[in-house]
Amino acid sequence: MNGRLLVPIFYAVLGYRMPRVASSPNQINLLSLTEDGLASLVKDLNWPAYRSIQILRWLYQRRVRSVDEMTNLSVEDRKRLAARAVIGRPDHCRILRASDGTAKLLVALNDGLTVETVLIPDDERLTLCVSTQVGCTLDCNFCLTGTMGLRRNLKAYEIVEQVLTAQDHLRKDERITNLVFMGMGEPLANVNELSDAVRRLTNKTWGLTWSARRITVSTAGLASRMRDIAPLGVNLAISLNATTEAQRDSLMPGAQRISSLKALLAACRRYPLPPGRRLTFEYVLLAGVNDQENDARRLAQLLRGMTCKVNLIPFNEFQSSPYRRPSDVSVLAFQSIIRRAGIDAFIRKSRGREVLGACGQLGTLPASVAEGALTQIESHC
Ligand code: SAH
Repeated sequence: MNGRLLVPIFYAVLGYRMPRVASSPNQINLLSLTEDGLASLVKDLNWPAYRSIQILRWLYQRRVRSVDEMTNLSVEDRKRLAARAVIGRPDHCRILRASDGTAKLLVALNDGLTVETVLIPDDERLTLCVSTQVGCTLDCNFCLTGTMGLRRNLKAYEIVEQVLTAQDHLRKDERITNLVFMGMGEPLANVNELSDAVRRLTNKTWGLTWSARRITVSTAGLASRMRDIAPLGVNLAISLNATTEAQRDSLMPGAQRISSLKALLAACRRYPLPPGRRLTFEYVLLAGVNDQENDARRLAQLLRGMTCKVNLIPFNEFQSSPYRRPSDVSVLAFQSIIRRAGIDAFIRKSRGREVLGACGQLGTLPASVAEGALTQIESHC
């Protein structure tokens, strides 16, 4: 059976296993409301406006799961709110832990689909890799998520839910230090919900009080939408992966149709970088395809003069992919050419490969789990 067929089958198995969130169809999910939406509900209930902030704090800062836990509302008010609304948080999530500490969280959505988010510990950092779509709009052919097609865009609250769920599962001494939108999906193909999610994450009054400097949004290169996220103040990463139009067309056909390499680089040069920040260019290294000395020289040439750094990602292999991971020696050779051209270049460590939690591996379960070796799974909430 070929890989294209296997992916949806594994996915269907996974989707089937995930329980749905229970809520009555007449009740509003408080998490699905924007700040304005909640303000209208509060007004409708004839409550003072400050009650919105109280409720938002319970939702995002205290992460409560029921209206009844909102103890600065009177018992009577809690009853009135509970008659109209629920807190639509999933009551279940599965976790796959790799031996390097990486954990892949499978978060249930209320239509039975599942979204994946990955917690990656590394020295002082604890990074959460967040998804913005189930599947992906694009079809980059070295990426497992890309082979799934797009199931659907995530709503802002489903994006934020990944952070809330991850926080629920941290040890007392742990704190997420960085958020990267590098999970399933193309963030800029879902830019409105992404922006709404980032505003909830960064809101200092009632939100998760994240600093935008610790958040990175990665795009496969939707050049015309890059300026839409500039006002959010987050860091921008661009998955370049190729150094000629033809090479990019063969590796990332969907992205290339939306924006040529030339147009993408022009948009990067125009991007309004805040002082002290730089763009990140990601470059997946595929053995014998885009990892040669000539590729490195062309990459350095394309980026000349830009305020940027390069993250090199040695290809993470998955079944059914024709590509191979380059040797460490050739990865280092590629890096040194970029560095000699005066551009900072780093090699991204591959984390969580055994749970298919590394870059480009989101979208299915490792075969051993799919076949029923459930010992790798913990289930909580
Ligand atoms: N769609 C966005 C967000 C996903 S980020 C984007 O493309 O930027 C995922 C990163 O992992 C991207 O830089 C992508 O190029 C890279 N990637 C995808 N598949 C990979 C694989 N199999 N091995 C290593 N990196 C991969």
